[in-house]
Amino acid sequence: MVFIMRAARYYAPRDIRIENVEMKPPEGNEVQVRIKGAGICGSDLHNYRKGMFMDRVPIITGHEFVGIVEQTGPLVKGLKPGDHVVADSRVYCGKCEDCKQGRYNLCAGLGFLGEVCEGAFAEFAVLSESQFFKLPLDLPLEKAVLLEPFAVSLHLLRSVKVEAGSHLGIVGAGPIGLLALLAARELFKCRVSIVEPSMVRREKALQLGAETAVEPTDRELEKYFSSIPLVIEAVGRSAAFNTALKLAAKGGTVVLAGLFEDAYRGDINLITEKELTIKGVNGFTNSNIYEAIKLIHGGHVDPSGVIFKRVGLEDINEAFNLMDNPEISDGKVIVEP
Ligand SMILES: [Zn+2]
Ligand SMILES: [Zn+2]
Repeated sequence: MVFIMRAARYYAPRDIRIENVEMKPPEGNEVQVRIKGAGICGSDLHNYRKGMFMDRVPIITGHEFVGIVEQTGPLVKGLKPGDHVVADSRVYCGKCEDCKQGRYNLCAGLGFLGEVCEGAFAEFAVLSESQFFKLPLDLPLEKAVLLEPFAVSLHLLRSVKVEAGSHLGIVGAGPIGLLALLAARELFKCRVSIVEPSMVRREKALQLGAETAVEPTDRELEKYFSSIPLVIEAVGRSAAFNTALKLAAKGGTVVLAGLFEDAYRGDINLITEKELTIKGVNGFTNSNIYEAIKLIHGGHVDPSGVIFKRVGLEDINEAFNLMDNPEISDGKVIVEP
């Protein structure tokens, strides 16, 4: 027996419609989760602007969400109604060599919820049990809603060597840059310098513990050139990557986290001349999720400051426009269906 729910379906760039959608109740190893909060991610914005990763349309978009188990299929073992969960946004094959080694984020067939199957911006999700991580019941879902992007920011830092108390550069103070700032402060007591064009985002970064926050065009930035051992690029644009290459000290490392919508243009010779290491990172690992739960649940990191606004499902288009306008939004917009 199907049920009807409200959902935001993506049809084309800048065309997301709120509709009644028919869903099948959970079968086999599936779980039906009532979605309590779903964040808009940078890759959702890539889809909103250009449909970059969309596998098929129409589709319920979104992949970062938390919720409460409503019903389970007969073969579900580890979850029961009332349990709190965060979705594993990755959809992987489980059979390839990388999956067998637990490197699901490198699966040859990797896709994401809301791109290859129905996703997060809806009243419910019905997905296999393996698509969820169980949460402690006393971890507020309003904080847990940032677990997935926080795990991404932990992956950035755990993929490279970070010296305690060292100087860290972050280019881009969007949600991933801000969460990386919180993680670097907590885990490594880093002194963090932010480069960010939006004034509201620079102010937010300073509030959240950045030592300095500078505009990319500011002459002041030059004094940091070739001085920072580790720089994170959290934007995905040529100009931002070029800034990161300039900031990095000789022999330093640049972590590339942003996905580019356009072809790269810039002075790649800086990598050779300064003997830089470029480290790409993709998504997160299971251990990043477990560490994210531990840090937030234990009160070591409170990611709530990275939330700009919470809106209802009916306002999803406003939510996307806000996220797409960094002069106004200084953090993540959460959709609460
Ligand atoms: Zn995401
Ligand atoms: Zn695989």
